[in-house]
Amino acid sequence: MRTSKIHCDCNAVQISMSGDPKVHAFCHCEDCRELLQVPYHSIIAWEPDKVEITKGKENVVEYQHPSKRMKRVFCKHCGDVLYNTNAMGWKLVSQLMFQKCNPGKLPTAFQSNAHFFYDRRIVEIEDTLPKR
Ligand SMILES: [Zn+2]
Ligand SMILES: [Zn+2]
Repeated sequence: MRTSKIHCDCNAVQISMSGDPKVHAFCHCEDCRELLQVPYHSIIAWEPDKVEITKGKENVVEYQHPSKRMKRVFCKHCGDVLYNTNAMGWKLVSQLMFQKCNPGKLPTAFQSNAHFFYDRRIVEIEDTLPKR
């Protein structure tokens, strides 16, 4: 089974994800925008038990959004967001984060295969992926 690893900018926290992600897509919803301050999120999503903090648990801060069932999980030293959680508790690593730690092209199983909530978008995307 595939094991993937990411770490924060200062390397105080390392995380490993096992198996292939459940969802790999771009999300245009306002929740992702508000939580992460991005125009849209590039999601690689795993079920909660597939993601493990392998180094630096004590350096991890979980910020619970005051009104949304989402958390930002980041390193207390460098502030780098390792992943965020959604209402189902899934752990969402950004494709940018993964690529920063694993240079080169994203594995096919991690590349976005759709745009979610495209009707809520703030930027237009011209590509051939399905838009929902
Ligand atoms: Zn760090
Ligand atoms: Zn979203």
